[in-house]
Amino acid sequence: MIIADNIKLLRKEIPQNVRIIAVSKTMPAEIIRQAYDAGQRAFGENRVQELYLKQQMLPPDVEWHLIGHLQTNKVKFVVSFIHLIHSVDSLKLLTEINREASKLNRRIDCLLQIRIAREETKTGLPVEKARQLLFSGELSDLQHVRITGLMGLATFTDNTVQIRQEFQQLAAFFKEVKATWFPDEPSFREMSMGMSGDYKLAIEAGSTMVRIGSLIFGERNLNQ
Ligand SMILES: *Cc1c(COP(=O)(O)O)cnc(C)c1O
Repeated sequence: MIIADNIKLLRKEIPQNVRIIAVSKTMPAEIIRQAYDAGQRAFGENRVQELYLKQQMLPPDVEWHLIGHLQTNKVKFVVSFIHLIHSVDSLKLLTEINREASKLNRRIDCLLQIRIAREETKTGLPVEKARQLLFSGELSDLQHVRITGLMGLATFTDNTVQIRQEFQQLAAFFKEVKATWFPDEPSFREMSMGMSGDYKLAIEAGSTMVRIGSLIFGERNLNQ
């Protein structure tokens, strides 16, 4: 029951108002089931095909979060069940989510993934591009998506000063976006930031959702 213990410890440590998304990528359904039996309901996956298969193997009250890059041609596989897409990084993708969601008459909650890490490899919209997207006004045509906040990944480093700065940058941009584009929308309220190695710094900076994999399920194989 190591997984149940890990979850219990995290719940004790993490403030009640911060949601824990258990990142179950690479883990088989029976392992995810252990976390489910310990009361965990929100799970994050980064690959559409894997997510699609696991969703069929686990109870229907699991809340599935997509946290990895989403290609437009894969949107149709997740719209029927997805709870929140954390990794939206273009108007093109939003438009496709809107199109597929409209067929099912659903409205899909999405976060804009913002590039805060200084590393070249990290994905997400640069702040300037995100502003352009919001200023363009095109979002208002998309009745089947709802932007409920922002997501960001800090640089993978031991430098806590840098990580803190990056999370604070996301928090500052969140404030700007809220004040400028969503002042009257209480649903715009999520800041998805923090992973196993940096969630404490993220919570200090105002995270409302931490995405925790290895601290719950143990180390994964490299590169996944
Ligand atoms: C894998 C992953 C996580 C979880 O990473 P851990 O270090 O195992 O907690 C969080 N967010 C994203 C986007 C990921 O791909």
